[in-house]
Amino acid sequence: MTERKAATHGIVYLAGAGPGDPGLLTVRAHDLLATCDVIATDALANPAIIATARVANPNVDVLDVGKRGGSSASASQEDINALLVRLARDGKRVVRLKGGDPLVFGRGSEEAQALAEAGVAFEIVPGVTAGVAAPAYAGIPVTHRGVATSVTFVTGHEDPSKSETQTDWAALARAGGTIVLYMGVKTLPRIADALMKGGMSPDTPAAAVQWGTHARQRTVTATVSTIAEAVTRDELSAPVISVIGDVVALRDEIGWFERRPLFGKRIVVTRASAQAAGLRARLAELGAEVIDVPSLRIEPLDPAPLRAALDRIADYAWLVLTSQNAVAVLWGVLREMDRDARALAGVRIACVGRSTADALLGHGIAADVMPARFVAEGVLEAMATRDDVRGARVLYVAAEGARDVLPSGLSELGCAVDLVHAYRSVSTGESAEPLRDALSRGEVDLATFASASAVRGYVEAVGAELARRAPAVSIGPVTSDSLRDSEIEVVAEAEEASIGGLVEAVKRWVS
Ligand code: SAH
Repeated sequence: MTERKAATHGIVYLAGAGPGDPGLLTVRAHDLLATCDVIATDALANPAIIATARVANPNVDVLDVGKRGGSSASASQEDINALLVRLARDGKRVVRLKGGDPLVFGRGSEEAQALAEAGVAFEIVPGVTAGVAAPAYAGIPVTHRGVATSVTFVTGHEDPSKSETQTDWAALARAGGTIVLYMGVKTLPRIADALMKGGMSPDTPAAAVQWGTHARQRTVTATVSTIAEAVTRDELSAPVISVIGDVVALRDEIGWFERRPLFGKRIVVTRASAQAAGLRARLAELGAEVIDVPSLRIEPLDPAPLRAALDRIADYAWLVLTSQNAVAVLWGVLREMDRDARALAGVRIACVGRSTADALLGHGIAADVMPARFVAEGVLEAMATRDDVRGARVLYVAAEGARDVLPSGLSELGCAVDLVHAYRSVSTGESAEPLRDALSRGEVDLATFASASAVRGYVEAVGAELARRAPAVSIGPVTSDSLRDSEIEVVAEAEEASIGGLVEAVKRWVS
């Protein structure tokens, strides 16, 4: 420990981003990304990971120092080393994020050497390396009892036909274990030749996995004598992991990722961040790559009007709640008042949809009215058929800018309606960047919408023109109308207004 370190507290975390699937980021890397001052990222680190970090850590500086297969535009290794030293000396906590594992063909150890030499504190955060993860997602174990007792990670960067090669391909061929080849698309023909010349059977199974663990993962299988040809035929290009060895045959039996119902689909989740988690998890389990854009954030408004209304709750016959956000904000205010579900004992409650009713039930309260049609008009119809609504006093807790259907319809039924705006949805603009890129490249298959305000937030975040580039699945008729208003094509609509209903609609559309 040098004195300089103690004085500035700057530190560099050499962290792995994993192979692509954001779920394969380590918890340690995730936590550091959420709290660091600067992220210096690699071309291979999934931009979705950076987008998520920006949401958790809005003030973070993101420097793209991507080095990508000899591209001359990228920063040199010396520049990167110097940058990391300078940032740490300025007292910054820097995450140097690299695809896969930072020390597996990642030059992380060279950066560590430079930091050590400069007396800068650093930590190494291992990551899930592509050479293990891409085969795993292709259904290929790198070792298997009775099939392969060893595995060699080898770079294909060195051309075996050149004399200065450090790799003894003949020795690898004789070793008989699995060979996992990084950076070897271009050199694959010569590497395969060198292995066969070294005694490997031409029938040895081989596979190449492009963009492993991503939605766009593609796998070709062949033998060591035909793999190079297969890769050319199917136009696979970097990043590709090639696997050579008998373990490849296990793919027929235990392939899984590419067989999922939503495999290969890139789906946007536009729900407000608090509710996005459930939907994203369900879609990801079905094999979709979720572009997790919390297009809206729920911001509670001044609680005073709601508090005042709750103080007089005995004056109301009905309480109408139109979203689970309304339930969450109401409950928060109630608890701040040191009260709980019993405060609502005397009032009847109408909810617009199942999600709202479920959220309410989570607090031990069952809704009295939940319409068959999950729209404001449906609540109105359901309430109109009852004999305890006409002339009643109604407390309506809604979002800022909510539609006027309910208050005006209830007034027509002779009700006195007190409308309290409890929260608003705010668009979180910055995180939409990767989405905009994906939309403009035509890489988004579908966007999901759980409310009309999510449609507005999405259009705000990506712009009206890009918003039309991907078709939509909507949670119900009002959301669909709002999508059509924005000229976004609606390809499916949930039969039931819930996350489950939305997921079912996505599956129906895909099949
Ligand atoms: N440090 C990284 C490897 C960097 S070298 C790691 O541990 O994974 C870059 C090479 O890694 C690419 O040329 C490719 O061979 C491989 N690679 C990285 N991500 C990949 C992915 N998602 N799918 C297939 N290959 C990948």
